[in-house]
Amino acid sequence: MSDHQPTIFDKILSGEIPSYKVYEDDHVFAFLDIGPLSEGHTLVIPKERKAQLHQLSDESAAALGRVLPRLCRAVMNATGATAYNVLQNNGSAAHQVVMHVHFHIIPKFGGQGLGIGWPAGKLSESTARDLLDKMRRALEA
Ligand code: AMP
Repeated sequence: MSDHQPTIFDKILSGEIPSYKVYEDDHVFAFLDIGPLSEGHTLVIPKERKAQLHQLSDESAAALGRVLPRLCRAVMNATGATAYNVLQNNGSAAHQVVMHVHFHIIPKFGGQGLGIGWPAGKLSESTARDLLDKMRRALEA
């Protein structure tokens, strides 16, 4: 049983509501964002119904990884953009609104596109060692 709550992207995948489809294969669907931050803003989603990236199967993850660079090239070609951001939000605290995994491809044209706040801190030796220890153990589990 899936604990995935239905989202508007399920309706796009089923064709119940229309979308400007850019690309589709067995695992991946891509379409234009209806509220673009800049011209060419595209969403790339797995057909697998999962809310957040860490929940995805290896199969969906591999399929997304295989096609993302190709879709970025298509967006660049179509728009003439030479810079772009790939954004992937997980959780409402991280600005995720639609709870179905999605990657944004957002061309950057001067001030148009994604605005980013980047309040960089400093990584201390003790924090780094502690994190490495915990993360490596998590990866082995
Ligand atoms: P996020 O904040 O990462 O969850 O982004 C969700 C994105 O989905 C927003 O950029 C919306 O503009 C976009 N969106 C929501 N509904 C639709 C729709 N029906 N067709 C295309 N894009 C949509």
